[in-house]
Formats: sequence, C-alpha cells, structure tokens
Amino acid sequence: MNAHPQPQACPSAFAAGREIGRYGSAEAGPTLVATGGLHGNEPGGVVALGRVFRELAERKPAMKGQLLGLVGNSCALARSTRFVDEDMNRVWTKAGVEALRRQDPSQDHSEQREQRELLALLDPLLEAAAANPRRRAMLLDLHSTSGGGPPFIVMGDTLQNRELAFALKAPVLLGLEENIEGTLIEYFAAGGNVAVVLEGGQNEDPRTADNHESAIWIALVACGLLDAAQVPELERHRARLTAAASGVPGVIEVVHRHDIAPENEPHFRMLPGLKGFMQIEKGRLLAHDGPHAQAQVTAPFSGVLLMPRYQPKGLDGFFMGKTIEPFWLRMSAVLRKLRMERVISLLPGVQQNHHGPNTLAVDPKIARFFTLEFFHLLGYRKHVEHEQRLVFSRRNDRL
Ligand SMILES: [Zn+2]
Repeated sequence: MNAHPQPQACPSAFAAGREIGRYGSAEAGPTLVATGGLHGNEPGGVVALGRVFRELAERKPAMKGQLLGLVGNSCALARSTRFVDEDMNRVWTKAGVEALRRQDPSQDHSEQREQRELLALLDPLLEAAAANPRRRAMLLDLHSTSGGGPPFIVMGDTLQNRELAFALKAPVLLGLEENIEGTLIEYFAAGGNVAVVLEGGQNEDPRTADNHESAIWIALVACGLLDAAQVPELERHRARLTAAASGVPGVIEVVHRHDIAPENEPHFRMLPGLKGFMQIEKGRLLAHDGPHAQAQVTAPFSGVLLMPRYQPKGLDGFFMGKTIEPFWLRMSAVLRKLRMERVISLLPGVQQNHHGPNTLAVDPKIARFFTLEFFHLLGYRKHVEHEQRLVFSRRNDRL
C-alpha cells in the first residue's frame, strides 16, 4: 500500500470535472457546497448532484445564494475503490492540511493531488464566509456505507448543524468526529460553518442516490437558498427520507469505535447479517480480527451498532452508540445559549488550556464527577489526552 507507483490512469480530464455544477451566485447569499464521491466506491452523491443540476438548469429558479457540487475523489471514483493511496476523509486535520501546503506538489500522491484541488476551491469560500456573515458557507458531504441500512447524518454537535440535520429528517449520529480525526466536515466546520455528512444508504443501491437527491433539495430550502414553493417535489423528498429512517432512534451518540490495526486491515471480518442501527446486547459476537482473524470481537456494551465494515479497506471496524433523549438535546441547547461554558473553568479540576479560550484541560482525578456527556452537553468535544489530562475544545456554536 505504501509503494504507490504514480498512476497515469487518473488524467487531468478528471480534474477538469471536479465541479459537477455551480448554480446561482455567491454574491446573492450563502454557498451550499455539496460533495459526492469523497470515497470512490460511493458514487451515489455524484449521481444525485448531476440530477439536481440538470433540474435546476431546466427550471431556472431564482436562488438566494449558490449551490456548488464537487467530486471528492475523482481518481478513486474512476476505479470504484474507496481510495487509491490514503483515505480522503481522514486527511483534513489542521496539521495535515498545513503539511500538504508545504509539500512540493510534484511529490503528491493520488489523494494529495485531489485534496490540493479541493482546497483551491474551498478555501476562498471559507475565507469569504469568515469575513462576511452574508456569505455563509455550508457543506453537505454525501456518502454511503458498505453495510446498508437507513440514511443517517454524521456531524459535530453545534446548534447550527442541528438546524440543517433535523430538517433532513434522518437519524443523527453525534460524537463520531471524536473517534475519527481529519474528516472534511471537521475542516469545514472549524470556523463555525455548517457541515454535515449524509450517509445515504448502501454503496451500490440505486435508492442511495435517490436519498442523496432528496437531501440536496431539502438542504437548499433549509439553508434559505430556495423557498419551499420553488421545490415542487419537496414533500415527496421529505416523505422519502422519513420513510427510509422509520423505526430508527432520532439521535445517537457514538461512544465506541473498533479500531483495526493497519496490519490486520485485510483480515478483519464482520459476522454476516449485521446491519447499521441494529440493537446489540453486550457480549454479542460481532467480528473477527487479528493476524489470522482468530480474535473474537464482542459488543462492549448494549447499544446500537453503527457502520459495520463489509468492505476490504478501512481501519474502522464498526462503531457503537447510545440513544440520546430529546430532553437532553433541548437542555443542551438552552445551556449553550446561556453561555454556561463561561463558568465551567471555575469548577475544581478544570482549567483553561494554553491552547486558547475555547479549550479546557480537565484533571480526571479531581473532576471525576464530570462525565464526557456533561461536556458534550455544553458543546465540547474530547480532543486528546495530554499529561493525564483530558483536553476538551469547544465546538463553534454560532449564537
Ligand atoms: Zn464515505
């Protein structure tokens, strides 16, 4: 995997096709960026965006802002593989992006070339959004899963993300970004921008592109780019996503990731027949892992199984989560609007961290009565453990 002979097979023709479409005007309001195929074996978003731009070109509705549709990983898409050299949804950490900017482009591997092109399109939008609140930037990143199941949303729990996510009528997974570093939504949301992932269904299932298409139309209305009256099929789109997610809990907090060691990547096997959002009892056998797939992997607690890996590539075996009651969501929105985080650093065992005002260092020996959930409630995410301290950074709510 490390020996990457530079493929000649991803010519610049794909780069020219980076933009699936662009509609409306950036000067007229916010820009909604929709990305498809960030993983090359997930073509549904690209198909859906093609349909939406064709319909926009036919009907020509006046848009209060701009829709920009982008191909994520064109080379991997052309080969129907998740990635060529590196997973393109794990490379967007601050340090990773800075290292890429310093790197000589002639040294880029396949995904670094793709990422450099995306950065050239995204950065001007993010800069404009930071400078001018009327030019807000929002991201809908369209993905799908190898295991199938209902559509769902993955996002950092900010109040502005909740607004778009709840409009999409699909179940929401919170806390996944604490288990996965370097996603595109993490990069995009850093300045307080809206950024959500929609997992539309199974990778090759034709209904996945339908779900993605519905999500794009709903997002255009939820983000204020189109009025509901300008999307004649809006109710049908909402009904489609609602029906696809029926019977699934509304909001789930991801609390466990089964991490596959790189050397065991090809050997990992989920047990057949498991699906995302299944209720799993503690101790149930879920997978085989290890050098000869001899190690049995069981559920660490009773909860909801998420994204079981039924594809050959990737180091995320599966995730498990717990359902969050609507009461706690409302409570946390109230606490954040009251800016409760301003008093939190007065509590014993909690200090403002040298990384800045939005970062806390927590000594778990003193502040043991605080749970991870407590910090989540106030809008913090767990960051890194550093010298026996838990470090939390505040997610960027726009209040
Ligand atoms: Zn994906």
